[in-house]
This record gives sequence, structure tokens and C-alpha cells, in this order.
Amino acid sequence: MKGYPESVSRLIDAFARLPGIGRRSAERLAFHVLRESSQEAMSLAQAITDAKTRIVHCPTCWNICDDLHCEICSDPRREASIVLVVEQPKDVLAIEKTGSFRGIYHVLLGRLDPLAGVGPEGIVLEPLLARIDDPSKNAQQVKIEELVLGMNPDLEGDTTALWIAREATKRGVRVTRLARGLASGSQLDLANPGVIADAIAGRTGI
Ligand SMILES: [Zn+2]
Repeated sequence: MKGYPESVSRLIDAFARLPGIGRRSAERLAFHVLRESSQEAMSLAQAITDAKTRIVHCPTCWNICDDLHCEICSDPRREASIVLVVEQPKDVLAIEKTGSFRGIYHVLLGRLDPLAGVGPEGIVLEPLLARIDDPSKNAQQVKIEELVLGMNPDLEGDTTALWIAREATKRGVRVTRLARGLASGSQLDLANPGVIADAIAGRTGI
């Protein structure tokens, strides 16, 4: 036998492409799937298919939602002139759990990482500038008055925050940043809700 059957190799390759999964873990996962009942394996495949086909990005804030109706952007009680910019949908979730932010969001779906070749066009920055420039592209057609930067406090997060702060300031928008109750290098989605709430309340101008 030269190697695994082709379908097994493809499954291992697919797992190996996932972040944080090495070759050996990919093999372990693939053989776990093969040992599972057909029903369990199919429900995994179905969950992946559903997530890919049913989940869309809100055309305004780029958070993920089940259909084009974004609960946050379409809520008239939210203060649409204050936009908190985060890296990932999981950060929105972490902040929403605290219940302490009444503005709306912009999700970058990544961060600037020049060393890894991720420049401004590699994340959702253009649509953010468009929202600033043209209120009709923002939720409730409201002009953005304040951008709160909620990038993770590490090198790439800081690089991204500086880029946005420069562009937003040029456009006359007030820029603030979540207070550094968040330890340097810590991840927003792993911080406890009290710390996040303090970071929102104590946000500082840049
Ligand atoms: Zn939205």
C-alpha cells in the first residue's frame, strides 16, 4: 500500500489546512470521523455546509448573521453614530455579553499583518472608510461621530489601530480606544465581561 486511500488523504488534507492543526492531529481527526457512525459524520458535514451557505455578512458592519437582517444594525435603539471596530465576530459576541455598549460595530475580519503579507486590502477597511464618508452606508443612515478601536492589544492590533486612527482623523471623526484594562497581548474574546465593560467606559482619545 503506497499510502492512504484517496478519499482518506483528502480528508486528512482538509483537516490539516485548519488553523492550529498539524499533520498528526489531522490524521487523528480523520480516523475519528471514520470510526464515528455515519449519522454523526454526516451531521458534522451538514453543520459545515449550513454554516457556509446560511451565514452571511451584514453589508453594513460585516458581522455574521443568519440572513441579511443584522439585529444590531437594524435596532433603532442602538446609537449608530458610535462605531466600535473589532477584528472578529467573536469579539462582538464578547462585548455584547457585557451589555455595556449601546453603539454599533464594524468587523474587520482580520487585522493588518505586514509580516504575513496582510495589507489594508486584505481586511474589511475600505467599507469602514465608506461608512465614514457616506452616512447612507451606515446603519440608520446616521453620520459616524466616534470610532472606538477595539483591536487586540498586541503588535498587529496596534498597527491596525494606528492605520484606522490616521484615516479617521483625516476625515474629522473622533477616535477613541478601549482602555487598557485589557492586559497587553490578551485577547478580547477571552477577557472577562467586567474587564471589557471597564475598557468601554474608560475609553480614551487617541
Ligand atoms: Zn450589521
